[in-house]
Amino acid sequence: MKNLILIALLTVSSFAYDLKPVKISNSVYQFVGEVAVPSKENGGNMVNTYWINTGKSYIVIDTGPSYNYAKAAHNAMKKIADLPIKVIINTHMHDDHWSGNNYLKEQGGKIYATKAQAKKFPAGTSTHMMTVISKEDRAGTKVIGIDEYVTKNATITIDGTTLKFLYLGYIAHTKEDFMVYFPKEKVIFAGDLLFSQRITSIRDGSVEGGLRSLRDIRKLDVKVYAAGHGIYTDHTPVIQMQEYFMALKTRAMAAVEEDIGMSEFVKTADFSDFKDRKMMEVLHKPNLGFAYGEYEFFEEE
Ligand SMILES: [Zn+2]
Repeated sequence: MKNLILIALLTVSSFAYDLKPVKISNSVYQFVGEVAVPSKENGGNMVNTYWINTGKSYIVIDTGPSYNYAKAAHNAMKKIADLPIKVIINTHMHDDHWSGNNYLKEQGGKIYATKAQAKKFPAGTSTHMMTVISKEDRAGTKVIGIDEYVTKNATITIDGTTLKFLYLGYIAHTKEDFMVYFPKEKVIFAGDLLFSQRITSIRDGSVEGGLRSLRDIRKLDVKVYAAGHGIYTDHTPVIQMQEYFMALKTRAMAAVEEDIGMSEFVKTADFSDFKDRKMMEVLHKPNLGFAYGEYEFFEEE
């Protein structure tokens, strides 16, 4: 009896990643994370990751918060088709999007990512994510090297599936982001250029760059929007990002115009129209400061 209780307690205390793939296109599967900050409770499962089944292999776009997360995703995908993993793509440098790399690399995939990611997280270093999630969840997670840097637009074809890397070349969500476009099924894997349900963080990016990236996304023929966070795969993420960036821009510019200082703006700016967006309480005030800084001496091109 004592042993049974102990087993029950151990099972409860470690977060077993319970990942269920959702089919969002003919050959694309999505793992949807919670819209929240990473925590011991969610094991960092607060990000969306994607698997493309080429028929002969898998292409994985973003690998999640840990070794064990990537392993759980792989186990779930094996039930759909047990295929080799050939390509691993990291859309940008934030560690919730690529901390499962070393599990997938063990399976034999080739990792594509930005130089900015490799520069900030050289192999063998540790990440914020590792300090936030539990020992059980982070077990096995290691920062490893990148196999090929994405530095410009490029096309890859894997077992008949063609993907286009769309390299931004300007600061948007981070100083180096790229999207992956899957023309055959009209899917855009936008990483953190697209969110829904929750607000984004401007910390490493730019409001103007974010707006520009939305203009670039709109030029594409898209049926399915594979966003970095949030559940929607229709054009909701494009609309929600646009609304928030435009509100930051117009309200920051108006404050500058009216000689309202940054700290006053951060304290008093009315964003009650965004009260239903998740993570306002953690990210919004810093975002107001970043937006003000960006538009204080801004000239429209
Ligand atoms: Zn990010």
